Amino acid sequence: MRRSKQSYRCSFCGKDKSEALILIAGIEGHICEVCVEQAVDIVEEELYGNKKQHATPTPKAKDFRLPEDLTPKAIKTHLDQYVIGQEEAKKTLSVAVYNHYKRLGQVIQDDIEIEKSNLLFVGETGTGKTLMAKTIAKFLNVPFAIVDATVFTEAGYVGEDVESILSRLLQVCDYDVEAAERGIVYIDEIDKIARKSDNPSITRDVSGEGVQQGMLKMLEGTDVNVPPQGGRKHPEQKLVKVNTHNILFICGGAFDGIEKHIARRMNTHVIGFKAEENNIIDRDNLIKYVNHQDLKRFGLIPELVGRLPVATYLEPLDHETLRRILTEPRNALLKQYTKLFALEGIRISFTNEAIDYIASKALDFKLGARGLRSICEAVMKDAMFELPSDRETREFKVTESYAMERLDKSKFGLLKAA
Ligand code: ADP
Repeated sequence: MRRSKQSYRCSFCGKDKSEALILIAGIEGHICEVCVEQAVDIVEEELYGNKKQHATPTPKAKDFRLPEDLTPKAIKTHLDQYVIGQEEAKKTLSVAVYNHYKRLGQVIQDDIEIEKSNLLFVGETGTGKTLMAKTIAKFLNVPFAIVDATVFTEAGYVGEDVESILSRLLQVCDYDVEAAERGIVYIDEIDKIARKSDNPSITRDVSGEGVQQGMLKMLEGTDVNVPPQGGRKHPEQKLVKVNTHNILFICGGAFDGIEKHIARRMNTHVIGFKAEENNIIDRDNLIKYVNHQDLKRFGLIPELVGRLPVATYLEPLDHETLRRILTEPRNALLKQYTKLFALEGIRISFTNEAIDYIASKALDFKLGARGLRSICEAVMKDAMFELPSDRETREFKVTESYAMERLDKSKFGLLKAA
C-alpha cells in the first residue's frame, strides 16, 4: 500500500510535527521537545534518585518570591486603597493570592503539594471584579490579562480556541514564557458560557459546555500549546508551550438570575440553616449566600466548578459606596478632575451635595460605578471646554445645581431613570 503523504510524528507520544516546537529526527523515527524533557527527567531520576528530583521547586517558579513581610492583611490593605467596600471579596482574594504565590516557592519534599486555588467572582457588572484582579496583579508585579469567555468556541467552530486565553497573557509580557507562567488571567463573563439547561447536553452546545470542557485542563495546570497571536490554531503555526500550573485564574460573571437558585436551595434548607445569626436571611442580597451548588444549577459543569474552589461575591453598589468611589480611591475620579484642572492652574472643588447628586444619578440609571465616569464627563464637559481659554477664572466650584443643569442638557437629560 502506498502512503499518500509522508507525515512526521513524535515516535514517543505521537504528536504531529505541526503541534511540536521541535521534532528531532533519528534513524528510525522522531522525538519532540516535550519527550526529550521527560526523558531527561527519567534519566536524572534513575541516576540521582528521587532526592534531586523532588528537592527542586515547582516548574519555572523558582525565581519568584513574595516580599518578605507580605501577609494577607497587607494585601487587603493595598486593595483598600483602590477598591471601595466589597470586604468579603477583598479578604477572600487576599488569602487566595497569598496562598497561591506562597505555593509557587514551595519545595516539595513530602507528598503534600499545595494545590492552586483559582477564584470565582460573582457580582453585578461594574462592581469591581476586574478592578480587584487588575489591582492585585499590579501590586505583585506579575503579568495580567483580561479575556472574555464569550469569544471562545469549541474546536472546529467559528470563534477562538480556548488556548488563546493564554495568548493574551503571552502578549502582555512580550512572549516571556517564564513570566507568563506565574501571571494572573481574569476570565470575564464566565456565566455566559453556562450550559442552557440543567441537563448535560444531548445536542451539541458549541459555545457553552464545550468551552467549559476545553478550559478544565488549563485551569488545573498542564502544558498548553498556545497560538502566539491568538485566534484559531492552524497546522503551519508554531505553537508556544505554556505550563499553567502556577497561573492564577480568576473568573468573573454577573450570573443574572442566580438568586432564584439560591432562594430555592435556602428555602429547602431553612431548618437548621445557620448562615446568619438567628437565621435571619438578607433576602435583598441573596448573592452573598452563593455556593457551588447554585453555580452548577446555573449551568457551570461540575468539573469547572471544582476547578474554581474559591467562590466569592461582590455586593451591588449602594449610594454611599458610589459616593466613596468618587472621592476615596487612590485614583478616584474627582481626584483626576482636580489634577486635570490643576494643570491649567485652576483650583476645582465639588460640594457634598454635588457629589451626592452624581452618586444618586448613577444609582437611578442603574449604571453602577462605570456610570459615574460618563455622568462626570457630562457634568464637566463645558468647564473642560471653556476654562482653559478663560484667563480670569482661577477657582471653580461644582455645585449641585450646576451638576443638575449640565446633566439635564446632556444626553442623560433625555433618558428616563430606570
Ligand atoms: P466589573 O465588576 O464589571 O468587572 P469593573 O471592575 O470593571 O467592573 O469596574 C468598572 C469601573 O468601576 C472600575 O474601573 C472602577 O473605576 C469602578 N469601580 C467599580 N467597583 C468599584 C469599587 N468597589 N471600588 C472602586 N471603584 C470601583
